[in-house]
Formats: sequence, structure tokens, C-alpha cells
Amino acid sequence: MEDTLNHVLDHRELYRMPWTLPDNAINWLEPTSACNLYCDGCYRKNDSNAHKSLDQVRHELDVFNRLRKTDGVSIAGGDPLMHPQIEKIVEMVANDGQKPIINTNGLALTMDKLRALKNAGVEGFTFHIDSGQQRPHMKGKTELELNDLRLKYAQMLAEVGGISCAFNATVYEHTLKYVPEIVEWGQKHIDIVNILVFIAYRAAPVHKGYEYLVGGKKVDMTPIMYAIDKDRAISIMSTDIVKEIRKKYPDFQPSAYLNGTERPDHFKWLLTLRIGTKDKIYGYTGPKFMELSQSLHHFTKGTYLAYTKPQVLGRAKSMLALSPLDKGLSKTLSAFLHDVKWKPHLLFKKLHMQSVMIIQPADFMPGGALSMCDGCPDITVYDDKLVWSCRMEELINFGDWVRAVPETDRT
Ligand code: SF4
Repeated sequence: MEDTLNHVLDHRELYRMPWTLPDNAINWLEPTSACNLYCDGCYRKNDSNAHKSLDQVRHELDVFNRLRKTDGVSIAGGDPLMHPQIEKIVEMVANDGQKPIINTNGLALTMDKLRALKNAGVEGFTFHIDSGQQRPHMKGKTELELNDLRLKYAQMLAEVGGISCAFNATVYEHTLKYVPEIVEWGQKHIDIVNILVFIAYRAAPVHKGYEYLVGGKKVDMTPIMYAIDKDRAISIMSTDIVKEIRKKYPDFQPSAYLNGTERPDHFKWLLTLRIGTKDKIYGYTGPKFMELSQSLHHFTKGTYLAYTKPQVLGRAKSMLALSPLDKGLSKTLSAFLHDVKWKPHLLFKKLHMQSVMIIQPADFMPGGALSMCDGCPDITVYDDKLVWSCRMEELINFGDWVRAVPETDRT
């Protein structure tokens, strides 16, 4: 897979997102480790009694505020809706001047709960829905059969209004082929679905390949949630997902990325913004537009932008005014005007912007080093320090990060 990277995308032609450890778009808060599902690929041990107190949450928010400038806070877990005081937590985040975004599987979401969260100040939801979750009454459903469930949540949010709607799905080797159709489903609901996120499945193999060390001593990784003891594909790359999407959308064009800590040309976070209607995608914004939106937000508000409000995304036509500054927008405008010539009524139709994001989590490098997302947004607090949320189990179990050593190096 490696050697094909630059044939798919050249990182030098994309905008490298300006996110860093102290100055980023979002933080990752985990008010609970309790969850009502057991998803394949989950990184956190499900602990039904592990709700943090409001004082603990306040303390973690203070650590974020002291160490990091951000635009929003992803409230995750566990499933944050399991926390009995979730509305209060959302309110605390909003009162800090941050956008509260709930990352949930949606199971515990009712219309009453949603309205209460909206009153508390929630600005966005990211629903994790995929076929690796073993949802009750949905066992054996394919990714496409889950689109009805995705739609149910998008419609709930649309009914309340003003809340950003995102869906994420873990991508396994056997579900990669469904990605283009989920992207097509997203287009059909571009008016109420704002963001689609695809996350490549990752795990730490314990049965062969690596030994794991902490402080030079071998540790047993078996209790760690992301340890696996059988052969599975753990190196799907962002570019593999791009290639798959291009089977349905040949001109699919990402515009910004975060590189890997070990590889400047890896796309750990790969961002694409497309513009269109339910019937047609007219084009994709280019890197200059991404640069402009991040820089302008930072210039005016002091933080990098996370989760654009749905009202703004529904005004994509006005963004086309910036087309002299961005090649992607300029191509999009030409494609739109071409259609307007034959169908003038399109001029009165809303154009929407929708983001398609691909995440390629931790990668094992040949020597055993782990390549993380450089400028990781999903940073959380552990022991008053900022840490990668995707590897926090190592700190909980061993008190330090684990170092992987290829078995051949030890023999
Ligand atoms: S380093 Fe881990 S926690 Fe951070 S963005 Fe990447 S996958 Fe997420």
C-alpha cells in the first residue's frame, strides 16, 4: 500500500492544518467510561460505574483551558449520554466559551434528551454508527442497511435545528467497499448531514510481530482494549479510502491534512469539503479556502475553527464569491454556472457544503515506533497532563506509554 501514496495524493499540494498541541481546534473530554455498546475497535475499557464527578470534569476543563486554546470540546467516553449529569457538563463547556460536541452511538438519545442538551448549549453531535457495533436488533446489518438509522438521527437533529450533524464509521477491510455508498448517502442528505468521518481500523497485535515494553520491561498487552490476538488488517491507509471513494466520485479531492509524527507524507487526518445539492456535487474546495477559513477564524476569534454551524454550511453559494482566491471554488463555480445555463431555476436553489474526513490512527513503523497524528486534536487529560486519547489505556494499565519492538530485533 505504501508505495502508491503519492500517486493518489501529494501532501505538498494540500494545506497542512495549523493545529498544534497548545493551539488546536478541539479537545477530547471523557466524562465517563461507561458505554451501552461494545464496538469492535473501541479504545476504552467499558466500566459501567466510571462516571466522573462534576468537580473532576471541571478540573479537566481547567487543565485544557490552561494548556490549550481550542474552539470546541468533543465530549466522548464511553458514551457521554450514559452520564447522569451530561446536560450540566455540556453547560460547563458552553460557559467556557467552547462548542460542546457530543460523540455518541445515539442509543440513549431521545427527543426530550436532545431538547435538554440543546437548551444546555450543545452545538454538534457525532454519531458513531457502523456494522462493527453489534447493536441490539441490528446484528448482521451491513453498512448500507444502517443508513436508515443514520437518517433517523439526522432527522432528529434537523427537527430541533441549529446543531451540527456528523457521522463516523470505523473502516475494516471487509467494509471498505461500502464507503463510497455511505458517501453517496451523505450527498442525498447534504441538507441535514454536515460531516462524514471514516476511521481506519487499528489494533496492537499481541500474537506475533511485536513485543511491548514499558521502561525496558516486557508488559502483557492482553488486557488493553486495542490488543488483538489474531490476524486482521490494521494498516488501511487514508489513501486506500480515497481510492475507494473515487470509484464513485472520480474527482473526489481532499484539500487539507495532518501528517504523521513519523511520516510527513502520511495523511492522518485528511479533510475534504464538497459543495453541491442532493442531486449533484459541483466540486471541492481547494487548499487556499481551507487556509483562509482557519486563518480568518484564528485572526478574528483567536482559535482554529472546529464544527462550522449548519446555517453557514447551507450558504455555500456565498462562499463561491471567494473563487478568485481558490482554484477548487473556481472550478466549482464554473460547474455550477454551466448547469445554471440549462436550468436557471438552480440559481434559486441552496448549495450546501459537506465535509468528508478520513482518519488514519496510530501506525506501526518498521522499527516499532508509532506514528501518531501530528497536531492531534483528540487530546485528553490524564493525571493533569495532555495525552493521546486513543492510547490512554496504556497509561491507565502501565503508568506510561508502551514501546513496541519488532520480535526480530529481540532475537
Ligand atoms: S493521535 Fe490518536 S487520539 Fe490523536 S487524533 Fe490521532 S487517532 Fe485520534
